[in-house]
Amino acid sequence: MAKILVIAEHLDGKLNSAVAKTVSAAAAIGGDIDVLVLAADPAAIAAQAAQIAGVGKVLTVANPANEHAVAQVQAPQIAKAATGYSHVFGASTTTGKDLMPAVAALLGVNQVSDLMAVEGPHTFKRPIYAGNAIITVEVPADQVVVATVRAASWPEAAKGNNAAVEAISVDATLPSHTRFVGLAAGKSDRPDLQSAKRVVSGGRGVGSEENFKVIYQLADKLGAAVGASRAAVDAGYVPSDMQVGQTGKIIAPELYVAVGISGAIQHLTGIKDAGTIVAINKDGDAPIFEVADIGLVGDLFAILPELEAALG
Ligand code: FAD
Repeated sequence: MAKILVIAEHLDGKLNSAVAKTVSAAAAIGGDIDVLVLAADPAAIAAQAAQIAGVGKVLTVANPANEHAVAQVQAPQIAKAATGYSHVFGASTTTGKDLMPAVAALLGVNQVSDLMAVEGPHTFKRPIYAGNAIITVEVPADQVVVATVRAASWPEAAKGNNAAVEAISVDATLPSHTRFVGLAAGKSDRPDLQSAKRVVSGGRGVGSEENFKVIYQLADKLGAAVGASRAAVDAGYVPSDMQVGQTGKIIAPELYVAVGISGAIQHLTGIKDAGTIVAINKDGDAPIFEVADIGLVGDLFAILPELEAALG
């Protein structure tokens, strides 16, 4: 029977919602699911992880070295804690993508990246070529499976569990060559782009940083997060943490409104799992309309004020 260890990503005392999605992927395999929390003081994070349905146990490693999530510090501890587990799963977030390959290397196995579907305990599907093709990968049955889970492909596991929390100690040698220097994070009062239920994104068609205010206004009316295409980021209209797509954020909101975005494949790969896609573009032949559920052909500077007025 599978024994799966899910790594708890957290920041500022909050468990990342991708952890509950990673637990859903683990549940698709079946077997025992434990969550591992590495922190200086893991109690609050452990309490949040214990609520996730399907979790059997929450294991905690308290160590001042775990004050900040540094992959090189976490990986040796995870590799030790993974003893006896058949699978070690992390979310395919920026942090998880940094951490899990190091864990895989320490365990002497290849990592399965961006796991989007479970075919069997050792057989998985993942996107390749910017989401244009799906490949089935098989891990040798005698190897531990180390994987990053594509959060956008999985629903959050429900809350309401009350799993046992168990403190463990791991005999891992921590590196001295890597240390935490600082964290620079953007601050916004708007919903978080990666977990928002509604997202309004602007592209090159918006034309300037100043014009982007029409995107922010619509987003605020909808209670939505704001995203952007890479062209908008490269042109300096918005910061790069707002980029949606292959080299930006992969998101799965219930509503995605693409404004002045042509619909290049590298952008579409970031919204493959979105619910309803609304496209506003003056070019009726723009590829975005091939994936849009609702398309409005016209000038965004005429359509957005009308839309806003209609929203009241
Ligand atoms: P354009 O393609 O220039 O489209 C602008 C659109 O705005 C046009 O369709 C136009 O009709 C419309 N428009 C103009 N004016 C108006 C108006 N007044 N009203 C209404 N519509 C108007 N792109 C990403 O987005 N995310 C990524 O992560 C990403 N990763 C990449 C990775 C690689 C390796 C490569 C090669 C490319 C990547 N790209 C990515 C870039 C991608 O190929 C496109 O260049 C980019 O998505 C185009 O952005 P855009 O749609 O805003 O601009």
